[in-house]
Amino acid sequence: MIIVETLASLEAHIGKMADYQRSSGFVPTMGALHEGHLSLIAESKKENRYTVCSVFVNPTQFNDPKDFEKYPITIEADLKALEGAGCDLVFLPSVKEMYTEGTANLEHYELGEIENRLEGFFRPGHFQGVCQVVYRLLKAVHPKVLYLGQKDFQQVMVITKMIELTGLEVDVKTVPTKREANGLAMSSRNERLTAEQREKAAAIHEQLLMIKKEWGTVAPEQLIKTATENLLKAGFDKVEYISIAEPASLKPIESADQSKEVVALVAAFMGPVRLIDNMIIR
Ligand code: AMP
Repeated sequence: MIIVETLASLEAHIGKMADYQRSSGFVPTMGALHEGHLSLIAESKKENRYTVCSVFVNPTQFNDPKDFEKYPITIEADLKALEGAGCDLVFLPSVKEMYTEGTANLEHYELGEIENRLEGFFRPGHFQGVCQVVYRLLKAVHPKVLYLGQKDFQQVMVITKMIELTGLEVDVKTVPTKREANGLAMSSRNERLTAEQREKAAAIHEQLLMIKKEWGTVAPEQLIKTATENLLKAGFDKVEYISIAEPASLKPIESADQSKEVVALVAAFMGPVRLIDNMIIR
């Protein structure tokens, strides 16, 4: 496995890979890798000759400085896991390498309504930061296919929009959410939870399943109310949102017969740790 830290060295190595442009997959991450990340690597390996992964905790996408400071860093273990997963090349840039001109006054993307819904509403500026870093990474890695997790449902939508806006030539593939045995979506932030909190946090998945089961028989508003109450009862400290929405726009659905396709999305706090998850309902 090749490990590079600079854009120049990344380009030099990619330049030597025959057929790279036709058969390469890229998995961008912020490290603290778990089975969810590795499932993206596995998917890329299945479909491409080369798999590139980046580990970079992007400062511009954190709206909460405390979240940034506390973001888990486990680089030694990450490299071992990537080696084990058969990753061909790892890119570990510094902030300076990614943002040579600094992180102030960066470009702004016209993402439209999607930017202000759900994650965008509760984390102002977050998606601009995501686009800023993913654009730079895609320019540098220029893979055939970009692999993203369904766990970050809205992020997939935003990155797809950014790719459309910038005309980057890359296919996007979404990989299903990998879960713990109890249903909790795997997340680097789970590392900040105690064993007991991890058990309680499975309630998010349970409530998503409840919404899926009751969909069509109970009004969306009532489902959201019940799920919110159940999360608080299960030990969540705050439910930031539960939304039942159209997958293409994330517009809330007010009645069960309003939309053919339905997704439910949740963000809730267990202590100081903010967890998100989603499920296709129909
Ligand atoms: P992150 O390191 O959290 O920025 O995530 C890097 C990539 O892994 C993103 O595309 C995430 O959506 C994806 N990912 C994170 N958690 C999971 C999971 N539990 N299952 C599948 N993909 C995931």
